[in-house]
Amino acid sequence: MIYLDHAATTKPRKEVVEAMLPYLGEKYYNPSAYYRVANNVKNDMETARARIALCLQVQAGSIYFTGGGTESDNWAIRAAIAGAGIKGSGGKKGKHIISTRIEHPAVSNTLRYLEENGCEVTRLGTDRYGMISVDELADAIRENTVLISVMHANNEIGTIEPIEEIGRIAHERGVLFHTDAVQSFGHIPIDMSSIDLLSASSHKIYGPKGVGLLYINPKIRLGRMMFGGNQEMGRRPGTENVAGIMGFAKAAELIFDETDNLAEHDNSLRERLKRELSEAIPGVRFSGHPDRHLPGILSVTFEHMSNEVILIGLDREEILASAGSACSTGAMEPSKVLKACGASDEEAHGTIRFSIGRENTEEDIDETVRVLKKIVNRS
Ligand code: PLP
Repeated sequence: MIYLDHAATTKPRKEVVEAMLPYLGEKYYNPSAYYRVANNVKNDMETARARIALCLQVQAGSIYFTGGGTESDNWAIRAAIAGAGIKGSGGKKGKHIISTRIEHPAVSNTLRYLEENGCEVTRLGTDRYGMISVDELADAIRENTVLISVMHANNEIGTIEPIEEIGRIAHERGVLFHTDAVQSFGHIPIDMSSIDLLSASSHKIYGPKGVGLLYINPKIRLGRMMFGGNQEMGRRPGTENVAGIMGFAKAAELIFDETDNLAEHDNSLRERLKRELSEAIPGVRFSGHPDRHLPGILSVTFEHMSNEVILIGLDREEILASAGSACSTGAMEPSKVLKACGASDEEAHGTIRFSIGRENTEEDIDETVRVLKKIVNRS
């Protein structure tokens, strides 16, 4: 089996599973309970919060554990809008949000919901590499803009957006800045200096699924998204996923410790795949930015081919990858991200996302190219 779908999810590391097991067994207590054994569990969880905060070089109190990247995105955006006028935006009338055409559905569908409920949304386009223009973003800011939400790195094509500059502009203009860092967290450095809200997820960094975080800059006030008990400093109620949180902290520590080495590993295999595909298959093209890209994601367009045919052919040979599009209601919709970069429907339909991870080898890449060549020649 060759797994080349690490942007979809990653296999939890052995150390991560080991860090979780006690909390699924003997340390099962509710961290909010009064007895000492429960208090120990609460302390372990607080240590996990501090360990993750250290990875990002932020205060422990600014990290809120959630049920994953989707929840963090929803919370950040909806609460920022619900609270518009509380901070920075005092006195502004109406609610205008600036985002992009290439966001993950966790952001884009939240924005659509808000739009249906009276917000105005400007969705910035990108160049052919999936990069937004900072000047265009600055020009789009209005009197009533309360939030800018731009992803750090794109999940389909890997392009890294200029979030440092975006954050600086947002701050100069008194607008909140949220970034979806689900794909970048742990994989490339993140400059936290001008970020108000950041979403991350554990299962993209060799941690468990169903747990993530929202970083809330201590300088801002963000309302709660749900109502319930006092967990997570009263802002994210519900009994905590302690085992998930302990696994997440372990995964974060491990990946932040080796970000540079892992990036080098993933990137060298990505380059190998790109080089070998260019040599082996006529007409292949690559999407995403040539330099500013995640180390492990390569989006490849095969001329006059359908991604379904390729994915099925790969799956038969136990090679697992994804289309650059979501599969909805059984039909492959052309990817909005690729369309935003100027791809035709046909090109979008012929695109596969390969995403490389820590256990992949040069042999995996060579074998994948061999099988792809076979599939293309057959059709
Ligand atoms: N944002 C991006 C960019 C993603 O790639 C994903 C997952 O694929 C998410 C958000 C959602 O994260 P989760 O699966 O933890 O809900």
